[in-house]
Amino acid sequence: MSILDTKIEFLKGVGPKRALLLNKELSIFCFLDLLTFFPYRYIDRSKFYRVNEISTFDVNVQIIGFVKKKKIAGFGRKKRLVVSFQDDTGIVDLIFFKRITWLDKFIHIGKKYLIFGKPTRFNNNISFVHPEMELLEGSVSKRSYALYPNYHSSEKLNSVGLNSKGISKLVLNLLEVLDNSIMESLSSLLINKYQFLDRTHSFQTIHFPDNLKLLNKSIDRFKFEELFFLQISILKQKKIKKERSRSFIFNKVGPKFNIFYDEHLEFDLTNAQKRVMSEIRSDMCEGFQMNRLLQGDVGSGKTIIAIMSILLAYDNGCQSCLMAPTEILATQHFNSVMEFAKHLDLKVALLTGKTKKSIKNQILIELKNKKIDLIIGTHALIEDSVSFARLGLVIIDEQHKFGVSQRSKLWANSVSLPHVLVMTATPIPRTLSMTVYGDLDLSIIDELPPNRKQVLTIHKYDKDINEVFHFVYKELKKDKQVYIVYPLIEESKVLDYKNLTKGYENIKSIFEKKGFKISILHGRLKKEEKAIEMTKFINKETHIMVATTVIEVGVNIPNATVMLIQNAEKFGLSQLHQLRGRVGRGGDKSYCFLLTSNKLTHDAKTRLRAMVESSDGFKIAEIDLNLRGPGDILGTRQSGLINLKIASLVEDYDILNNARIDAKNLLLDDPDLEKYENRFIKNFFLKHHAQLLKWGSVS
Ligand code: ADP
Ligand code: MG
Repeated sequence: MSILDTKIEFLKGVGPKRALLLNKELSIFCFLDLLTFFPYRYIDRSKFYRVNEISTFDVNVQIIGFVKKKKIAGFGRKKRLVVSFQDDTGIVDLIFFKRITWLDKFIHIGKKYLIFGKPTRFNNNISFVHPEMELLEGSVSKRSYALYPNYHSSEKLNSVGLNSKGISKLVLNLLEVLDNSIMESLSSLLINKYQFLDRTHSFQTIHFPDNLKLLNKSIDRFKFEELFFLQISILKQKKIKKERSRSFIFNKVGPKFNIFYDEHLEFDLTNAQKRVMSEIRSDMCEGFQMNRLLQGDVGSGKTIIAIMSILLAYDNGCQSCLMAPTEILATQHFNSVMEFAKHLDLKVALLTGKTKKSIKNQILIELKNKKIDLIIGTHALIEDSVSFARLGLVIIDEQHKFGVSQRSKLWANSVSLPHVLVMTATPIPRTLSMTVYGDLDLSIIDELPPNRKQVLTIHKYDKDINEVFHFVYKELKKDKQVYIVYPLIEESKVLDYKNLTKGYENIKSIFEKKGFKISILHGRLKKEEKAIEMTKFINKETHIMVATTVIEVGVNIPNATVMLIQNAEKFGLSQLHQLRGRVGRGGDKSYCFLLTSNKLTHDAKTRLRAMVESSDGFKIAEIDLNLRGPGDILGTRQSGLINLKIASLVEDYDILNNARIDAKNLLLDDPDLEKYENRFIKNFFLKHHAQLLKWGSVS
């Protein structure tokens, strides 16, 4: 046990009462917790103001002066301590409403103090409400550091003297007793590489910085440390999991794959597609289960990757299964696979909730007899009755709709684990892929096929609606189709529904008399009704689709060239991007109109600008992360997985990337951390992270 494990109660200046509050309010239980309770900001206190220099009233200033007089005024809730505070240029009032008796004892007339706080103007007087006060003995402040740390505190902690300053004092006490007991956590290789301060010095600096340069160095060090050990854990965990999951070895590139690639592929693969394909191939050769997430914007060509993987599985004697979240998507996949596979003599079946019982029974038998090579379907595939002869590859389109446990039902009856490829069009910001999704292997198609026309995105205000409708009309006349989308916000379902139907009536009154038909799609419709409307639109029986966001992810209607989004300011960025992806899927120039009111918040403006300026899903995902933060994007369940003390998944991409590379190299070179030069890393890891893993082999 190290001194750092000592209960916080035993630190000078704490005791049982304060300890209890520190436990409860800040989760500080032991010395280490306090040591790593970092300031959340620093205030530059290099400048001292004089009273007659105070001209701004919204920033904190510090003044040195004397207490001239003090009095307690008012009664009850208005009772306050008023202190006249003076330097050689003027007088200000210091006003205290709380802890009056205690302060009254602490503040002495005629003595010199340093005060720090936000000035306010009241009746021509300048006053400070609850400024920080420090008694100055001698001529200069005992603490001459220019950057003053601020710690989070709470009402309750305040009441026992543990405001930010009180906590800072405890940290000072702590650093005194710790002296030589802070252990290094990094190798000298890494410390030299990044020119970090040693660990003891870094703690001193982050709590009591001498200057900005050293402060930033120590902040970077602790961010790196946190992310580096997180990466080691993730990589270790991944390795352990992988080694436990033996799977098929697809080392043959056989006739099906080659014939398809050489003779039937009508276009060249993009470089990104080639890279991804080779990542998948080498993954499927290793004898362990592939667990790969394939990210690629809409239209980046994920389907072809799926098909080639399926052919690899076939050439290696295995069946495949492709699962989509909805009937429509499954059917679409079935059709496009049939298109690609027609020359290949591949036996493909479609199984959804709608499949007739007799046909279904036939399919089930053929799956078991290995008469079917590929089955495409919906949730219907994870019913108990479905079992395969030799399932080697599972592909899941649009990952977020299926949980992990649902997925594994697919191979519940299998002898061996199949490889898994999850495809998603929702780009995940880089920092999240490296942490929250860090245990999946990642392939990214970050390049669109050539000659793809970008969707022109245009922001318009509500008053311009007629102009936009005129544009819509011109596209309809060219035989194109149009989506018009309304927001749906859960809390005001009724109102939104009204908006939608009002909009629908309006659109109908304008366009119907010109001979165009209109579909409407919203959450109140039954599943079958939705499917009927969707099918009508797909078959060009209707020309305009008025909808809430229920338009399904992945739906492919190449003839639709306009996406008109009403109240676009109410949509999230990733949602806007997804909606925009519904158009521009054919060869024709396509448009996305973002219609908003005049009143826009700062965030809404940022979102709209991002949409107009960029069509790159990854860039948009990064901006979205900046606006919303990781918690909001991931939802509470997942973000709980990553509890970072100092590093930020929004700001620290570069540090994270370095940490990941360094952790990878380290484990490649010294998988069990047995080398002498890595002893600090090993000790630190074993103490703070190993319990998270079932990592028994090292100790
Ligand atoms: P998504 O990633 O959205 O699923 P798809 O796989 O549906 O994209 O591909 C979109 C369209 O682009 C399809 O019509 C497909 O045939 C075509 N495509 C895919 N890859 C290429 C390529 N390398 N060159 C040209 N067209 C391609
Ligand atoms: Mg797709």
